[in-house]
Amino acid sequence: MKIIMLGAPGAGKGTQAKLIAEKYGIPHVSTGDIFRANLKAGTELGKQAKVYMDKGELVPDELTVKILLDRVAQEDCKNGYVLDGFPRTIPQAEVLKKALAELNDDVDFCINVDVPDENIIKRMSGRRACVKCGATYHIEHIPPKKEGVCDNCGEALILRDDDKPETVKNRLDVYHKQTQPLIEFYGDKVKNVDGTKDMKAVFDAIVAILG
Ligand code: ADP
Ligand code: ADP
Ligand code: ZN
Repeated sequence: MKIIMLGAPGAGKGTQAKLIAEKYGIPHVSTGDIFRANLKAGTELGKQAKVYMDKGELVPDELTVKILLDRVAQEDCKNGYVLDGFPRTIPQAEVLKKALAELNDDVDFCINVDVPDENIIKRMSGRRACVKCGATYHIEHIPPKKEGVCDNCGEALILRDDDKPETVKNRLDVYHKQTQPLIEFYGDKVKNVDGTKDMKAVFDAIVAILG
């Protein structure tokens, strides 16, 4: 099963993608997580991506497409994957479509997690992330068991540099201009879920779609 998560930054794509990955036994592939892991490891890719991420802009398609295609070519992606944060532009979607077509394959579902912009800014300021294992929490809605510490791996949680309200506003603009058109691109494959509900209710709605 090949699934794409669509939705604004902070809509809950990553949270739901992790639950999907666990239930259906497929890898969760997040381009944002790959960039952050590279940043932490001090690689050239990480340094290049940071310039864009800090401004709330998209990393150029050439860089992003390459890391994504390398990742989904790995053995563990053979039976499918859930993409979180990719594609984010029409050219990215076209590259993916072409790569899959060469394998006589295509995306099965696009889950569009729908949350209005007003809710997003509030949500982002409460987001806390673990850069070591990729887990995400929310100080009010989805708190870790121990404040400031990752449940999975014990690492200290951070507030992402790009989750500051000013940067979030820019990311929302970028989303509306560059990513939202993908809803039309994927047409019938797109299934909407109401992302303002609590985490479990959103997941139940997704499972009802995926079967
Ligand atoms: P969020 O889940 O909050 O939307 P992500 O972790 O997906 O954030 O992405 C963080 C940043 O990484 C983006 O703002 C962008 O700069 C960069 N990024 C991630 N995925 C892509 C992509 N597919 N294309 C371009 N840039 C990307
Ligand atoms: P995205 O990957 O779309 O950027 P995340 O999954 O990181 O979004 O979620 C953004 C923030 O909202 C996180 O702090 C997360 O814990 C929280 N969150 C996720 N789903 C919900 C929900 N259904 N209700 C309230 N908060 C949520
Ligand atoms: Zn962790």
